[in-house]
Order: sequence, then structure tokens, then C-alpha cells
Amino acid sequence: MPSPKVYINGKLYDKADAKISVYDHGLLYGDGVFEGIRIYHGKVFKLKEHVDRLFESAQAIKLEIPLSREQMAKAIQDTVNANDKKDGYIRPLVTRGAGYLGLDPRRTSDPQVVIIVDDISLYPPELYENGMEIATVATIRNHPAALNPRIKSLNYLNNILAKIEGIQQGCLESLMLNHKGEIAECTGDNVFLVKGGKLRTPPIDAGVLEGITRNAVIELAREARIPVDEMSLTRHDVFIADECFLTGTAAEIIPVVKCDGRPIDNGRPGPITRLLREAFQRLTRQ
Ligand code: PMP
Repeated sequence: MPSPKVYINGKLYDKADAKISVYDHGLLYGDGVFEGIRIYHGKVFKLKEHVDRLFESAQAIKLEIPLSREQMAKAIQDTVNANDKKDGYIRPLVTRGAGYLGLDPRRTSDPQVVIIVDDISLYPPELYENGMEIATVATIRNHPAALNPRIKSLNYLNNILAKIEGIQQGCLESLMLNHKGEIAECTGDNVFLVKGGKLRTPPIDAGVLEGITRNAVIELAREARIPVDEMSLTRHDVFIADECFLTGTAAEIIPVVKCDGRPIDNGRPGPITRLLREAFQRLTRQ
């Protein structure tokens, strides 16, 4: 396997030589933004949507990306080509840049643009067939007025704390509630329920990342004439759901069959989850 080639500020480096300053505020404070994108069969999936979200995250933290959206899209595509990657994962990120040991973002040098292209496998394949177990954790999702979950920032400690709690309970993913006690999302995935033939998912203002896979699944559901309700949900809705699944770039669509030790319906992946998984596979094969 040749070493991955990493893009930093317009140049490609071997993985071992791809380095940025320890004074970078991305490292010191998590001050920066990122994306996670899939490559399917040689094509970058939803590139425009990911670039748009990266720029919106940056705008929300007043970080000026030193490239236009078109230049960023081209840099991503060029890095994929340089790595000759047909199926894989892309991690573009922009940090605030190197500064001094204080918070002030004005006292940093130029933002650093990094693009990593590598492989990803998040969950064991059998979980996609048999479904996974999740647990509700005590750590709530960031309050939107503190750090809005719509911002895909380099500061993921909120999610990591929740992930640690889930792992301690033997679960690979954790269900996070918001400050009102409603379902928000998992640490790296959006949540969907199926009830009475309809899809239910928390609205964006529940304090969640507007997942690009989430939006693709909503579109696929509508094409399949499955109604979608974006509505406030609680754990009660999970316990009485017919089906549950998670969506994310890395996770794709994965069935959930147990939450907080309770089987969801009959404890097996359901037909609507299966239908949407198949539709998503067709979409990513296009
Ligand atoms: N929520 C969070 C917190 C995430 O980190 C992710 C993954 N980026 C998602 C949801 C799913 O978003 P997407 O489908 O765009 O990957």
C-alpha cells in the first residue's frame, strides 16, 4: 500500500511528513472546522453539499477559508486523484492557524487547509445485517446557544464524552438528548425512527448536525412515498418505535435493534430500514 498523500495548503506530502504547528489553534483549542466525505466507485459523493457545509461552519466561527468553494472542491478532487482512491473517505479540515498561547483568533497566522484521503470502516459488517445496540447517555448534546451542533467544528469533546459513556455500557454508539430532554442525535450520526409506516427524525433546531446522509435519506423516503415527519422525539418514541436506524457519512445507514437494553419492536432490522439501505446503495453506485 503506498503512503497516503496529504494536502496541506496547496502541496501534497507523504503521511509521515504531513505536519502543522503545535501552536495551531486547531490543536490548542479545537478552533477550526472539518468535513467527512465518502468516495464511492471513483466518485466523490455529495461533494458540493459537503463543501457548502464546510464553508457555513467556517462562517459561523468567523474563520475565513483562503480558498473559494470551487477551489476547495477542486483541491478535494485533486487529492482524491493523487491518491488514486476509488472507494474511501476524505477528511478536509481548516484550522485557525498558528498563534500564541492565548485564545484571540485575530492573533493567528493563516488558516491551514488540510485534506486527508484514506480508508474507513466504522462498524463491523455483521451489525449492518443484525443491527446494533445504542444507549442513552447522561452527557447532553451541546446547547445550541453555547456551541451550535450545526457547526462541524474541530472541537468534538461533547461527542467524545458521550462516546466514552456508551462504550462503558458496551455500546458502539450513544444516543444524546438535548437540553430539553428530547432526542438530538448520536455522536457521529443522525437518528431516524419508523412508526406506522412513517419516518420520524428530530428537526435541525433540536440541536443536531444537518447530516448530508440524513437529507439524502429523507429524499429517498419521499421518492418511495414514505412520509417523513421532522418532529420533537423523546426516549418514549424510541421505545415504541417499529424500527430505528442511524445515518452518517461513515456509518451510512445502520439499523438499531436495541436501546438502553430494550429491544426495538422484535429486535430485528425492519423492512423500511432495509428498503432505504437498498435505495441508498443504488444512489451511491450511480
Ligand atoms: N451528527 C454528527 C454529530 C456527526 O458528526 C455526523 C457525521 N458528520 C452526522 C451527524 C452525520 O452527518 P453526515 O451524514 O453529513 O455525515
